[in-house]
Amino acid sequence: MDSCEYEQIEPRARPTPAPTPPTRDGREERRRPRRRWEVFPGKNRFCCGGRVIMARQSGVFPLTLGLILLTCGLFFIFDCPFLVQHLTSCIPAIGGVLFLFVLLTLLRTSFSDPGILPRATPDEAAEVEKQIDGSGNASYRPPPRTLEVAINQQPVKLKYCFTCRMFRPPRTSHCSLCDNCVERFDHHCPWVGNCVGKRNYRFFYAFIVSLSFLTAFIFGCVATHLALRAQGGRGLVFALQESPGSAVELAICFFSVWSILGLSGFHTYLVASNVTTNEDIKGSWSGKSGEGVANPYSHRSAVLNCCATLCGPMPPSLIDRRGFLPQDESVQAGDTQPPAAAPVSQINVVGGASRPTLALQEPLNSSSADAS
Ligand SMILES: [Zn+2]
Ligand SMILES: [Zn+2]
Repeated sequence: MDSCEYEQIEPRARPTPAPTPPTRDGREERRRPRRRWEVFPGKNRFCCGGRVIMARQSGVFPLTLGLILLTCGLFFIFDCPFLVQHLTSCIPAIGGVLFLFVLLTLLRTSFSDPGILPRATPDEAAEVEKQIDGSGNASYRPPPRTLEVAINQQPVKLKYCFTCRMFRPPRTSHCSLCDNCVERFDHHCPWVGNCVGKRNYRFFYAFIVSLSFLTAFIFGCVATHLALRAQGGRGLVFALQESPGSAVELAICFFSVWSILGLSGFHTYLVASNVTTNEDIKGSWSGKSGEGVANPYSHRSAVLNCCATLCGPMPPSLIDRRGFLPQDESVQAGDTQPPAAAPVSQINVVGGASRPTLALQEPLNSSSADAS
């Protein structure tokens, strides 16, 4: 299927320079090659040598993880043995599969690059400045800076990001908490402690949908467990005394299941209409902004929109966080911006040899959309 936004052409990133082999000379060792994540300008935390990325403000992610582990732990300890004995051994098997799926999708959402765009290098930023300020008057900056491009014959305004010093590609937004521009920015989710964007939205969606099933499943099993124990006139109080953990599970599931179900429903609507939370809140395509324009990214079919959002090829990470800085920059680095391999597009007038190209497509020509 064709992408309905723009297609990333293979990065023309300059090859990461090979690290200088360590020598016994102390001065050489001090000049050890530094990886790009060590001087990353955004507000992110990196672990495992840059392999794991997370927002510095991880929000209530530990609470999310703790609640899932606590509820599932209590379920397997207090409810499963009784239900296996009185009903079927499928219950812990189903619960186990759902629990593992929820955990994996949560960790994948939280610890992956959501689609961060590297900032412009000084040279690239200067090039954009020159193009914007064609008058030659460096002090004159007409706010706001915008650039208009056509997507599916529909004009879309691109805003200039003063932090990243480039025009944001379509659907890109700057997250103030992470201090990065994120492609197909959906929202910054404190529950998963990361931005949700182009590269981790499918995992986020899988997480909330599977969490809905897990919560409803545990709720149903715990209610059945307590009902069976209360049989024969022994009452609910007796059942809760026999299985005190079930009361905690019941309370957690009861108070969380409604919001999780609501969130899953909302994101299912967003996926089916190929809209991001950010666009929905701003009313970009619903006329709330007064423009009354149709969503240019929609494939006009819920199934095609779902496939495009959830099943498309995984875009590569553009921040090359494990790559090495060139030797000269690695020595004086620290507070300076890394000349990261960043995207440039026909619409993003930032130029530079190290950047991959984002080429605008015309995907929603009925022929190309259907050709998939
Ligand atoms: Zn930005
Ligand atoms: Zn963020």
